[in-house]
Amino acid sequence: MWNFQTDPEFQSQLDWMMDFVKTKVEPLDIRFPGHGAPYDVSNAESRAAIKPFQDEVRARGLWACHLGPHLGGPGYGQIKLALMNEILGRSYWAPTVFGTAAPDTGNAEILAMFGTDEQKETYLQPLMNGDIVSCFSMTEPQAGADAKEFTCRAWQEGDEWVIEGEKWFSSNARYAAFLIVMAVTNPDNPPHGRMSMLIVPTDTPGVQIIRNVKVIGDSHDSDDGIHAYIRYNQVRVPLDAMLGAPGEGFKVAQARLGGGRVHHAMRTVGKCQRALDMMVERANSRRTQGKQLAEHQFVQGMIADSWIELEQFRMLVMKTAWTIDEVEAGRSPPVSPRTLIAMCKVQMAKVYHDIIQRAIHLHGSLGVTQELPLADWWGGVASLALADGPTEVHKAQVAKALLKRAPVAAGLFPSEHIPTRMEMMR
Ligand SMILES: Cc1cc2nc3c(=O)[nH]c(=O)nc-3n(C[C@H](O)[C@H](O)[C@H](O)COP(=O)(O)OP(=O)(O)OC[C@H]3O[C@@H](n4cnc5c(N)ncnc54)[C@H](O)[C@@H]3O)c2cc1C
Repeated sequence: MWNFQTDPEFQSQLDWMMDFVKTKVEPLDIRFPGHGAPYDVSNAESRAAIKPFQDEVRARGLWACHLGPHLGGPGYGQIKLALMNEILGRSYWAPTVFGTAAPDTGNAEILAMFGTDEQKETYLQPLMNGDIVSCFSMTEPQAGADAKEFTCRAWQEGDEWVIEGEKWFSSNARYAAFLIVMAVTNPDNPPHGRMSMLIVPTDTPGVQIIRNVKVIGDSHDSDDGIHAYIRYNQVRVPLDAMLGAPGEGFKVAQARLGGGRVHHAMRTVGKCQRALDMMVERANSRRTQGKQLAEHQFVQGMIADSWIELEQFRMLVMKTAWTIDEVEAGRSPPVSPRTLIAMCKVQMAKVYHDIIQRAIHLHGSLGVTQELPLADWWGGVASLALADGPTEVHKAQVAKALLKRAPVAAGLFPSEHIPTRMEMMR
């Protein structure tokens, strides 16, 4: 059945969320700016400011909604999560206030899925409580997205794993209580069975943050960078620090990256909606050449294109969310969630680029200043097309999924060849 409605009870939760995020959470982006600010658990002032908000969210049953009830979340499923994430995507701080900030969400998921009872108690519980943050340390400086090229090694010595190698763009490592490190433990296995995941407390001897790399939008004169270039110098952890079995690292990584990508897409809908809200307000408020901006057809074109593209993207995200829920319920939807998630990943970067660019353009010189949030959002354009794998990798995945199920023409000409079809009809 096709249904584009939200049940009234949940809609009232969403209405509360929208008001709460707009009035209480969005101001935090201005009061505590910087991409790393929501992750800095050592900042007593910001933590004290968000604590009552987090308590309010918990009291309404909206805390950590990405996890099922057995893990401390309400387990609403992906459709409801999509509707919620659209609201949370409006603000940098909102995911932290609602206990759903990446990469902690993905790390929590793999701890819940593959962790031992002890690992869950030590790492998952404080993560779920919002007391600590974590880091996913996978990408390598020489290997980028391709896990098959990884060289960071771990080997067993007595009752310890010893890790040696480098990782690149380990986001939030500087704030994290622990790192989940992907290392080659079984070099003789086939490529996807060579790696394992190890949980490494950040203060373990030998963990060396070479530098915290800054990105577009970070200021030049402050210590803003949050993406760590890390060296693991013979870092020793106990044997039970492994998450999953030896050689299962790729499988564990896949389990977390899918969810992460679609949640980013859901939040991107919200950020684009906020940019579109800004566009229409500006168009209705500013005059030039004797009329409102809203009356100029070029401006109407920008607004229409943005709304249409956003609605199309939102439908794709919702279909993906529905498909994941179907699989969870034991049914077999026609297209795999993996393929749909790859489509969302590709389209997210494009739609975000186009809408933020138009929103900036419509605001003229004010749009490029740091007096509006748009300039900061523009900084995320390039990252969205790279983080969690470049666009090309996901496009190739989408195309291969379709090619795999497409037939090969039976004869010399394609099956739609008109003379051949006429011949067959005779
Ligand atoms: C903001 C941000 C946060 C990140 N956070 C983390 C994190 O927390 N933990 C972590 O481990 N990593 C993280 N990453 C790293 C991210 O996973 C990598 O940037 C990504 O996988 C691409 O790797 P690369 O940057 O080395 O680019 P490369 O792999 O060198 O790719 C560069 C370019 O080469 C082309 N290319 C690459 N592969 C293919 C292909 N198969 N087919 C066609 N063309 C291709 C594309 O044009 C691509 O953009 C983050 C990245 C960003 C930008």
